[in-house]
Amino acid sequence: MNIQRKYESPDTPTGKSPEPGEQARRSFLGSCYCHEIEYVVDLENPETDARTSVCYCKNCRKWTGSAFGITTKVPKAALKYTKGETKKHESDNGSGTRLFREFCGTCGGGILEYGENAGDNTYVTYGSFENPEGLPPRGEFFCKYRESWMPEIPGSSPIIICDCWHPPPTSSPSKTTV
Ligand SMILES: [Zn+2]
Ligand SMILES: [Zn+2]
Repeated sequence: MNIQRKYESPDTPTGKSPEPGEQARRSFLGSCYCHEIEYVVDLENPETDARTSVCYCKNCRKWTGSAFGITTKVPKAALKYTKGETKKHESDNGSGTRLFREFCGTCGGGILEYGENAGDNTYVTYGSFENPEGLPPRGEFFCKYRESWMPEIPGSSPIIICDCWHPPPTSSPSKTTV
């Protein structure tokens, strides 16, 4: 209960969630810190089209300058830049896969990251959304690098496959959507 609360922003309205099936199409606006870059992510159904996860890998830590990265996977086609142009950085993820990151050349705020294997998807930095309500994290990657003071993400879902995959809560049917 307390842990759950940690992940709700203080201004989240009283947790009302739509009934199954009535989840509506939604547009999420986002920007970098200085607003030189702005975008919109248009999702048919945020419940199924988006997946937020937290990553503790050293790569994400360095790029964000934080203890973890948090991004939301969406179809590439759902994202459109409405202002500005990002700078791109390309690197090796440490095991030979090319990793791309897009950010604002003025304030340095991160917007996107995606590996060369991401296919038709891209990963939007969660913090760049104006209002990411409705896109809670569903899982974690590289938990072995999670700081000891950092709690597990509540309800980490079995759709996340990582080196320390969490067994799903006993009531959950095993669902493999990747
Ligand atoms: Zn900026
Ligand atoms: Zn990572």
